[in-house]
Amino acid sequence: MTPDQLRGYLTFYRDLGVKEIYRRAPQFQAAAPAEETPPMAIPKIIPLEPSGDTLAQIRADIGDNCRRCRLCEQRNKIVFGVGDENARLVFVGEGPGADEDAQGIPFIGRAGQLLTQMIDNTASKEGIPIKRENVYIANVVKCRPPENRTPQPDEMEICGQFLFRQLMAIKPKAICALGSTAAKALLATKEGVTKMRGNWHKWHEIPVMVTYHPSYLLRPYNQNAKREAWEDLKKVLHFVYD
Ligand code: URA
Repeated sequence: MTPDQLRGYLTFYRDLGVKEIYRRAPQFQAAAPAEETPPMAIPKIIPLEPSGDTLAQIRADIGDNCRRCRLCEQRNKIVFGVGDENARLVFVGEGPGADEDAQGIPFIGRAGQLLTQMIDNTASKEGIPIKRENVYIANVVKCRPPENRTPQPDEMEICGQFLFRQLMAIKPKAICALGSTAAKALLATKEGVTKMRGNWHKWHEIPVMVTYHPSYLLRPYNQNAKREAWEDLKKVLHFVYD
């Protein structure tokens, strides 16, 4: 591996939030009789931020039959993202649910309808002339985890490279992380949403607001959280559109 390739790998993992790497201790080997070793195939490394990257290119790079992780086994549709390619605000969720998996569009089930209402109604009440279609919405993983389980770290890492490229291509003024999976993926944090919400964090110099996931807000006993999520959203909308 050349130093440039090594740098590429390390940057890739650092950008995904990996803080430590381990190196196998060199193993002692008895001198083997000199033998020609065949040259190793050098894997092609795609830079994390290909220049002139576009959402269409990223979607094409994922392909129609992505098999990079086990989530491919039960998915119906890859759910890439929806909205304005030049959006000033991006919402990041966890991963598709059943409705999204069936239609290939993020946040269109019950949680999605709540998110749409939150965006449209808060913007309208605050006198901000935007609607859901003016923002961009994507998930950490693009395929539905079976039974809507939380995505596993390796699935988040593998699919995270595409979220990274989506965010870099859009370069929004702010990102809103919906729930703890999105917060973990973007901010490499172990803190819960309750601690992080309401304050600004940063992802590659882009301000990130963490708030509750709409599915959490649908539970009847979380009505206080609903009020807080509305406050968070107001803050984000004024920051981005004032
Ligand atoms: N929950 C998510 O996190 N994303 C979706 O697209 C739908 C539900």
